[in-house]
Amino acid sequence: MAKDNKIAIYPGSFDPLTNGHIDIIKRASMLFDKLIIAVASNSTKNSLFTIDNRVQIINESLSDNDSIRVDSFEGLLSDYARKNNIFTIIRGLRTLSDFEYEFQMAIMNRSLNSSIETIFLMTDEKYSHISSSFIKEIYKLNGDVSRFVPSPVIYQLNKIKNEKNNK
Ligand code: ADP
Repeated sequence: MAKDNKIAIYPGSFDPLTNGHIDIIKRASMLFDKLIIAVASNSTKNSLFTIDNRVQIINESLSDNDSIRVDSFEGLLSDYARKNNIFTIIRGLRTLSDFEYEFQMAIMNRSLNSSIETIFLMTDEKYSHISSSFIKEIYKLNGDVSRFVPSPVIYQLNKIKNEKNNK
């Protein structure tokens, strides 16, 4: 890749991918030559989908675009960034509480790796109320989440439900 190509990482749990994430992905991919969506295996969060499932869902939900790649990583984001020589991180912001957490994380990432800059994209108001944890909660309470997530998520959620029912 040419030296002046601009590459960014959009890291997250994506458990599962939501329409809010897709909006950030689309907007970030307009700003950079290449965007790596990096699925974090985060042991502190109660996950619904495996890492492989999350990667698969993201791949299926995005239309073919050579400038977007999906990857997964374990460990520190700052180490993943260093290893791949990418120093721009994209994060989305919805609420004031997002801000506090994201602010601390951006500073921490920069103190772990001083070359890292975090760029924040403000949520589109259509998606400001959508979070993966809400999706999981609504799904567990048998609510309809189809307005908030792409169809590969619905497919995988139905699969989990069917597997449970057949046990
Ligand atoms: P993490 O566990 O790293 O917070 P998430 O998958 O929950 O991972 O979120 C990844 C990033 O996407 C975060 O920066 C989060 O604030 C952002 N994000 C999540 N949902 C939305 C949304 N609806 N609109 C804009 N940004 C969002």
